[in-house]
Amino acid sequence: MKAELIFVGTELLLGEITNTNAQYLSEQLALLGIDVYYQQVVGDNLDRARAVFAQALDRADVIIASGGLGPTMDDITREVAADVAGLPLELDRTIEADLRAWFERRGRTMSENNARQAMVPRGATVLPNDRGTAPGLILPAGPNGSKAIVLLPGPPIELRPMFERQVVPFLTAQMGGAPLSLVTRTLRFIDIGESQLEDTLKDLIAAQGDPSIAPYAKTGEVHLRLATKAASPDEGLARIAPVEQAIRDRVGQHIYGLNNTSLEQAVGELLKERGLKATTAESCTGGLIAKRITDVPGSSAYFDFGFVTYSNEAKMKLLGVPAETLDQHGAVSEPVVVAMAQGALAEAGADVAVAVSGIAGPDGGTAEKPVGTVCIALAAKDHITARTLQLWGSRQDIRDRTATHALAMVRRFVTGQKV
Ligand code: ATP
Repeated sequence: MKAELIFVGTELLLGEITNTNAQYLSEQLALLGIDVYYQQVVGDNLDRARAVFAQALDRADVIIASGGLGPTMDDITREVAADVAGLPLELDRTIEADLRAWFERRGRTMSENNARQAMVPRGATVLPNDRGTAPGLILPAGPNGSKAIVLLPGPPIELRPMFERQVVPFLTAQMGGAPLSLVTRTLRFIDIGESQLEDTLKDLIAAQGDPSIAPYAKTGEVHLRLATKAASPDEGLARIAPVEQAIRDRVGQHIYGLNNTSLEQAVGELLKERGLKATTAESCTGGLIAKRITDVPGSSAYFDFGFVTYSNEAKMKLLGVPAETLDQHGAVSEPVVVAMAQGALAEAGADVAVAVSGIAGPDGGTAEKPVGTVCIALAAKDHITARTLQLWGSRQDIRDRTATHALAMVRRFVTGQKV
């Protein structure tokens, strides 16, 4: 079954509201295994909306539209859908009475405009709206009514329960009662770029059939989504397993987690398993690494405290960084982050310490150390590694990427990879 989504509202075109219904409906339809090939947004304009609905009806089995079902003149969706489906609008006395009662309960009188909401295309199914006044509608459409147009109110608080309780059963029945669901498994990679990953898996990606393999670049990491349609999660995962294994055989060391697992969760899990305590010494990230570590519930098992040492004085006072090292190399240098990491390790009595110092910008860069220059060090008993990175993006991006690099470094150390 192919569905097409239409969102009606000039507000959406002007960027005044975010189209959260698009994300919600797309996600829900994917879960039901219904393909969505197109989504369209159109303003409150009769002719343009008619053209959009006609085109969608041509190429999809089901149209699902949101918005424009209200009582005012610019709420045109009902009229347009009825027109495209070739159905006359008729007054539904029950809806009209319900609307009157809805207003009376709130001590208001119904204006005549509201009666528009009681107009129903002939043969349409009415979807009651518990949360608002505009009922939803399912219109038979296309050749012999073999297709359908589903109209839903715009406000998400009205649309979502209506979709889940009333539209999902309809769609499931349309599909013959046994829907295939989309089963996905996301492999999350660190320390490998999107193009390098694609290159390594070129043949697998080129030959992909079922499951599909889709890489997504995120800030500082890459995700690979394996997806298939199946009658049950077990059936889908069984189909995904051999492809996942083939990927693991090549780049398994870079996979830090699955699905919604964050890097900090994965690193936390590793520290906990090995009974290690970590600490942080942060300059340019101002505590972001410690924040991410402690975002994870249960992180007290492997993290007691960290240091935010923004000024040189703080680096000297709290971490014992020698004044000469700062003078000679500058705060953003490998010798300084090494001293920070060693100081933090000793002060916190931890097993592993990570330290960062960098130029997050937008100012403060020099020819020698431009904005985005970040030094990172990891210290442990009998181990020290320092690296200098050249990162890019806004101040926030640079800070985020720095924190990700620091966590990745801890992961490499703990898993016995080259730090
Ligand atoms: P109502 O009768 O309750 O006004 P409606 O179907 O006429 O419903 P609209 O008038 O188009 O809906 O939109 C009403 C409100 O619903 C908008 O102001 C906005 O807050 C929300 N809304 C509409 N469309 C969307 C969308 N695509 N995503 C998120 N919110 C939306």
